[in-house]
Order: sequence, then structure tokens, then C-alpha cells
Amino acid sequence: MSPAFVETAIQVAYLIATALFILSLKWLSAPSTARRGVIAGEVGMAVAIAGTLLDRHIVDYRWITTGLVVGAVVGVPLGLVRMTAVPQRTALSHAFGALCVALVGTVEYFDRLPDVPRFMMGALSMEVILASLTLTGSLMAAGKLQEVLPQRPITYNGQNVVNLSLLAVAIGMAVFLVMNPGHPGLFLLMMAIALVFGVMMVVPIGGADMPTVISLLNSYAGLSASAMGFVLNSKLLIIAGALDGSSGFILSVIMSKAMNRSFTNVLFGAFGQVQPLAAATQEARPVHSATAEEAAQILGVANKVVVVPGYGMAVAQAQHRVRELFDALTRRGVDVKFGIHPVAGRMPGHMNVLLAEADVPYDALFESDEVNPELAQTDVALIIGANDVTNPAARSDPSSPIYGMPILDVDRARTVMVIKRGMSPGFAGIDNELYYLDKTLMLFGDAKSFVGNIVKELTGGPA
Ligand code: NAP
Repeated sequence: MSPAFVETAIQVAYLIATALFILSLKWLSAPSTARRGVIAGEVGMAVAIAGTLLDRHIVDYRWITTGLVVGAVVGVPLGLVRMTAVPQRTALSHAFGALCVALVGTVEYFDRLPDVPRFMMGALSMEVILASLTLTGSLMAAGKLQEVLPQRPITYNGQNVVNLSLLAVAIGMAVFLVMNPGHPGLFLLMMAIALVFGVMMVVPIGGADMPTVISLLNSYAGLSASAMGFVLNSKLLIIAGALDGSSGFILSVIMSKAMNRSFTNVLFGAFGQVQPLAAATQEARPVHSATAEEAAQILGVANKVVVVPGYGMAVAQAQHRVRELFDALTRRGVDVKFGIHPVAGRMPGHMNVLLAEADVPYDALFESDEVNPELAQTDVALIIGANDVTNPAARSDPSSPIYGMPILDVDRARTVMVIKRGMSPGFAGIDNELYYLDKTLMLFGDAKSFVGNIVKELTGGPA
């Protein structure tokens, strides 16, 4: 093969990969096309790797093969973790990506010494600062989510000033290096400061806010990869990094909005602390509870039911039972819809993925603003392991930490049923007035077995 042919093949491969990455993001934005989106992303990445392996600058494939084997040995088990562990797995993937970018940036810097052009030095500094803070920040986030590190925010006076000063010092060093690149010691110090900043940045953020932080770190990882694209003169890396950076940023904004939090509040607000006062006062108040048999009787004669799944459905892995309930009710002519809140569960799209796994039809899934207008005409709102996303305090109590968060207006339904194990609060650590309404029936139990029992009652057979 002539070098010109190989070069053209590489460029074509990169063009195809770029198109597939863009299509992948487009398709990932709707449940009905999400699987296609995942496949497009995977094929795009395979094409990009194949194109890169054709590069005539590669003189020896042994190191690359070793890297591929080591990557596969680490990556395959990582891909098999439980669904609820996906946020920390994603954080680890970002840490590995960032480690790779930081190492490549360091090698490129030392390779180009003593004369590094200013633009190149600027790109290298940005690459190394972003990658280093993403590396340690992601490791901290994964540690908090896996509970190997304390989940609660650790704060002290003047923390934000200290953190921002650290970042300012690293950026100051980068500016100095752009003017005077021949200072390898300073380059390494800049990197070390960025590594420390990554840790300090995540320390004051509660474990509960980690998914938003991970999505932000995803954005930083993308931007650092894009900067690496300028260093390596790779258009594919520039584009893929920019797509990653911007989509991560947009996702963080969507998540912050859905939790009614500002970005600065997530980053500097030390949210995610358990509020013992709310937890302590809740046991005393009376609630109405019901059995699976009673619940089945009410559901069986309803015309319209809206099911609201939440984190508890994921913990209990109740999605297949929920699908059976959907089937049993629709067979009886009940109109069943699912109301999906954007931050139900613990990661974006959590409920959609679980319900898709159980083959619940996509056209039965509705976003909060689609289903909310229908709730006043709904006979039963059945809440399965959701809590905060249904809490009316978000509408009515300005002192509530979730005040202003868009919720599913389940309290407007004629009857509300809540499946959960006890009266424990959800993620935000606050009590839910919904449970004390006259129209609310508490169905105490594990989501999987309780829904199974309702199905059994409805079908008259084993669930
Ligand atoms: P939630 O408010 O955390 O409540 C989950 C409820 O599930 C708990 O009250 C718990 O009560 C119940 N539960 C746990 N295990 C159960 C089981 N095995 N069977 C039955 N029930 C069980 O969940 P949510 O309503 O889905 O709200 C999500 C929260 O996470 C929001 O506050 C959101 O802001 C936050 N968040 C979401 C994301 C995201 O991307 N989705 C990211 C960051 C933060 P019991 O213990 O009494 O059973």
C-alpha cells in the first residue's frame, strides 16, 4: 500500500468515526434510539482505533498490543459492575482517560524541550492542568460513591479561597511557561498543584452530588483530550474531545436544573449532608398503610394509573416485576403510564435504562412535564421506591432544600400509593408530606417482593 493511500484511509476512517460520534450523541438523547446510539459510539471508537493503528509513524506494535491487553483486562470487569455502581465506574473511566492525557502531555513537553512554541505550550499546559485535576477529582468521586471515602462534605473556613487560589497559581505557572517554556521543574510543579486541586475540589462536595460532579469531570476530561488534539495535531481528538466536553457540561447543567441547584451551589454548596432533624421527627406521625391485596383491588378497578419509579426500584431490582404489573393492568384495560423524573435514581437515564432492560414499551414512558397535566385525572399514582422527586415541599415550602425543584405532581392524583420499606428519607434527607395525606396509602416492603405480590393478586397466580 502506498503511503498516500494509507494516509487517505486514515483520514476517511477519522471522518467516519467523527460522524458516528455525532450520531451517537443524537441517538442517545431518546430511549427509543439509545441502543443504536451506544452501538454507533462503539463502532466509531473501533474505526478510530483501527485508523490510528494504520499510522506509518508506528514502528513497533508490541507496546501497543501490551497496552490493549492490559486495557482489556482492566476494562472488561469494569464493564460488568452492577447498574447502581455505574456512576463510580464512570468516574474511574474518566480517571484512566485523564491519566493517559496527562502522561501524553508530559511526554510531549519533555520531547519538545527546550523550544516549545507558545501556542503548543498553551495547549500542553491546558491539557496537563485539566487532565491532572480530572484524574484526582475522579478518583475522589469514585471513592466517595463506593463509600471507601467519607461521603459527607468536608468543609473549613476559607475553603473556596484556598481552592481558587490553588487553581490561580497553576494557571499563573502555565502563563509563565508559555512565555518561558524551558522550566521542566515548574511544569512538574504545575502538574502537582493541579493534582492537589482535583482532590481539594471534590472534598467539600457531598457523596450525593457526585453524579453531577462526575458529569462535570467528564466535561474537563473531554476538554483536556481536545487540547491534546492540538498538541498531537489530531483533528479527531479535537472534535471527539469537544463533543465530550460540551455534552458533559450540558448534562451537568440539566442535572443541576432538575435538582433546582445552581452550578456554583453544587460545586461550593457542601450539599448532600444528612439532615438529622427531619429524620428524627418523622416516625411519630400516623400514616395509612395497606396490603398488597388491598392495593391490587384498587389498581384492578382503576381506569388510569401513573407509575413513578425511583431509586428504590433500582436498589430492589424490581423492574421486571414492574413490567409484569404493567402487563397485568393493561390486560385488564387499565391505562398505565410511567412518569419519569430526570433525576430519579442516581444517574441520568437510570429509570429509562432499567425499564428498557425489562422491555417496558418506550411509548409508555413520559417525562414529568408530559405526565403532570394528566395527574389530576389519574385514579392512582403508584410510587415505587421514589421519594424526593414526588415531594410536594418542592412546590410549597420555601425553607425546604429542594424548594423549586420540578417534581412529579403525584399528590394531585385521586389515590396515591407509595411502595417503600419504611419511613426513611431519600437522597435529600428530608421528610415527605405526601406520606401523611388522607389519600395516600403506604405499601411497606421491598419494591420487588411487594410489586410481585400485587401481580400475584391481580393474576391469581405465582408472580
Ligand atoms: P430518593 O429520594 O433517594 O428515595 C428513594 C427511596 O427509595 C427511599 O426513600 C427509600 O425508602 C426507598 N427504597 C430504597 N430501597 C428500597 C427497596 N429495596 N424497596 C423499596 N423502596 C426502597 O429517590 P428518587 O425519588 O429517585 O430521587 C432521586 C434523588 O437523587 C433526588 O433527590 C435527586 O436529586 C438525587 N440525585 C439524582 C441523580 C441522578 O442523576 N438521577 C444524581 C444525583 C442526585 P426506604 O429506605 O424507606 O425504603
